[in-house]
Amino acid sequence: MDNIYLSPEHELLRDQVARFLEREVEPHAAAWENTGMVPREVLRRMGQAGLLGLMFEGEYGGGDADAMTNLVFAEALSQSTFGGFIITVLVHTDMAGPHLHHAGNAAQKARYMQRVTAGELITAVGITEPGAGSDVAGIRTTARKDGNEWVLNGTKMFITNGVHADLYFVAAKTGTARHDVTMFIVEKGTPGFSVGRALHKTGWLSSDTAELVFDNVRIPEENLLGEEGKGFYSVMKNFQTERIALAAMAVGHCTQAIQLTLDYVRQRQAFGATLWDKQTIRQRIAMLDAKTRAAQQFMYHCAWSVTQGRDIVQEVSMLKALTGELVNEVVQTCQQFHGGMGFIRETAIERLWRDARVLAIGGGATEVMLEEVAKRY
Ligand SMILES: Cc1cc2nc3c(=O)[nH]c(=O)nc-3n(C[C@H](O)[C@H](O)[C@H](O)COP(=O)(O)OP(=O)(O)OC[C@H]3O[C@@H](n4cnc5c(N)ncnc54)[C@H](O)[C@@H]3O)c2cc1C
Repeated sequence: MDNIYLSPEHELLRDQVARFLEREVEPHAAAWENTGMVPREVLRRMGQAGLLGLMFEGEYGGGDADAMTNLVFAEALSQSTFGGFIITVLVHTDMAGPHLHHAGNAAQKARYMQRVTAGELITAVGITEPGAGSDVAGIRTTARKDGNEWVLNGTKMFITNGVHADLYFVAAKTGTARHDVTMFIVEKGTPGFSVGRALHKTGWLSSDTAELVFDNVRIPEENLLGEEGKGFYSVMKNFQTERIALAAMAVGHCTQAIQLTLDYVRQRQAFGATLWDKQTIRQRIAMLDAKTRAAQQFMYHCAWSVTQGRDIVQEVSMLKALTGELVNEVVQTCQQFHGGMGFIRETAIERLWRDARVLAIGGGATEVMLEEVAKRY
């Protein structure tokens, strides 16, 4: 479908990502689902191809791209049917990396950014805890100043890239007020910092998700990221980029599921004709496609609004809620039309069905997003 938001450069980026998926991802990603991780070489090759730092500054090997180009990348990447691969990359580029990009000072960027963009350092962001997810200000991890060091104590939960990352952007309380949150940079290998355990998930099997434990972890004072006490607001700011990327993932899953289902129902015979010949099936697919295309246009509108400098927290929250629910409706219906085959592990539709579930939960659960919408009326 023609997209008025896309330029010829965007189309080239889409083609480049599509070729990367075809060559480097789709033939191998089923094996990564079994090993529970995306190999480092693949991420490095993405970095070498200039695909891991599109929004970051050119002086650090990034692409100086705006929100629209960034969305084009996320949507192109989301044409893969392997959600675990997609989220491994998007956490690095759109959820963790932006903390360094937006809040890092010159010395921090000089130290890390080039290697982040090259895929030599993989990043993770640690906000959620066993006792606080949606309620970011409710976290209990603390950071206490001791001389020229900060001492971190606490536990983080459900951290994507948690096992295999090198660099972690971690939220901790630095005061007694509810919103007294500060972000810190923690390198893997810092004494007292350990990865608790890799979690077994329903989907996103090639993405590693871990519990992180900070036991009197001492980091130098220059590892404070952004302003002391202002971390809550940088988390909220970065959520806008993260949520547009998650919407792209949801829309990508919808378009893939619809295409897989069109291919399937056109050839599958039942009661003397193809499933496509059943009016109820083709009309329901048509409606799912209509909803997907509407969500896709809203997603592009949100990214375009970001490029115009508009405050669109309400719209992005709507987008996250809408696409997180829509992808579950689309994928589950498409799975239904695959019959028993949709319940078999090797099929892409079964994987999409498992992977879609978390898109209504992670990065802002639907109910919480709708509260963000409602309180802005
Ligand atoms: C696979 C996976 C990867 C993740 N990766 C990361 C990561 O890399 N970094 C990170 O920091 N976190 C990560 N998360 C955490 C994720 O963002 C949280 O799970 C999510 O924000 C929800 O928090 P919670 O699990 O604590 O649920 P809760 O906050 O306990 O919410 C439980 C339910 O209650 C609802 N609810 C909560 N508050 C309200 C309210 N006010 N009104 C109505 N309903 C409400 C929620 O919508 C939800 O349905 C990941 C999670 C998963 C599952």
